[in-house]
Amino acid sequence: MPSALSKNRVFRFAPSPNGLLHLGHALSAILNHDLAAACGGRFLLRMEDIDPARSRPEFEAAIYRDLAWLGLDWEKPVRRQSEHVAFYGEALERLKAMGVLYPGFLSRGEVKARVLAHEAAGGVWPRDPDGAALYPTEERALDRDQALAWIAAGRQHAWRLDIDKARALAPTVLDWKEAGEGPEGQTGIVAAKPERWGDVILSRPDAPASYHLAVALDDAAQGVTDVVRGQDLFHATAVHRLLQSLLGLPVPAYRHHGLVSGLDGRKLSKSNQDTGIAAYREKGVSPAGIRALLAGYGFVFH
Ligand code: GLU
Repeated sequence: MPSALSKNRVFRFAPSPNGLLHLGHALSAILNHDLAAACGGRFLLRMEDIDPARSRPEFEAAIYRDLAWLGLDWEKPVRRQSEHVAFYGEALERLKAMGVLYPGFLSRGEVKARVLAHEAAGGVWPRDPDGAALYPTEERALDRDQALAWIAAGRQHAWRLDIDKARALAPTVLDWKEAGEGPEGQTGIVAAKPERWGDVILSRPDAPASYHLAVALDDAAQGVTDVVRGQDLFHATAVHRLLQSLLGLPVPAYRHHGLVSGLDGRKLSKSNQDTGIAAYREKGVSPAGIRALLAGYGFVFH
């Protein structure tokens, strides 16, 4: 696996400090750390704290504590997304100038009402890979002067990517190299289908950059060569590839790993306190015990 150029490889673990780390996070962090160590590459930690409503300093502190307890060591200083708002804003302006963004004024409730009305009339509303209803494309046609007047009047809006315009500006063949596996076993060269997500949000009043925009920009800014993360983000990679293409960013290699499911088969979440790293520590499990637990799920470490 390590190549001749391997010393230049850069890995990262990028948690959002909106909860405690669970076994799935431990898996991601350990894989990134160990892959970097195996090839003499770098291991970075990035705090994805761009959403001020959900990020908490106590969770950030808990993340440092849990990772250090696991025996991982990362480069300092840690990049915190909340400190790079102007950087994301510049990219947003570039995308606006390219004509691929538009302000979306519909609230979640308004979108839901349209979906329900459509479905009640027997229609099928398109949904993204996570099952969420796509934003109505007719909103793209909103009169520009009207939109500017609403913005000037302080009406809440999100900046959305017109996925069809954006896709048309990117090369016909848009793909990525998958060293891991998607949820349906996708591996090797994977064709990106960002249109499955519809007109994704790139900025909202309460979060200056969306996950998609910040992650694409940060991976490039930090020189990340290898993105190793859970399969739950496999399909999101298509949006990241599109943004990389529009903004002229380098393309990392991707390795999506399987998810650690709870004993009852459910996906782990930050609210499942019993599978939190801290909970295992308090129960007397050692860091080696965490690795053994993960190995028991079939995950292989280097
Ligand atoms: N911050 C994201 C999360 O905690 C992960 C981002 C990524 O690895 O691309 O789910």
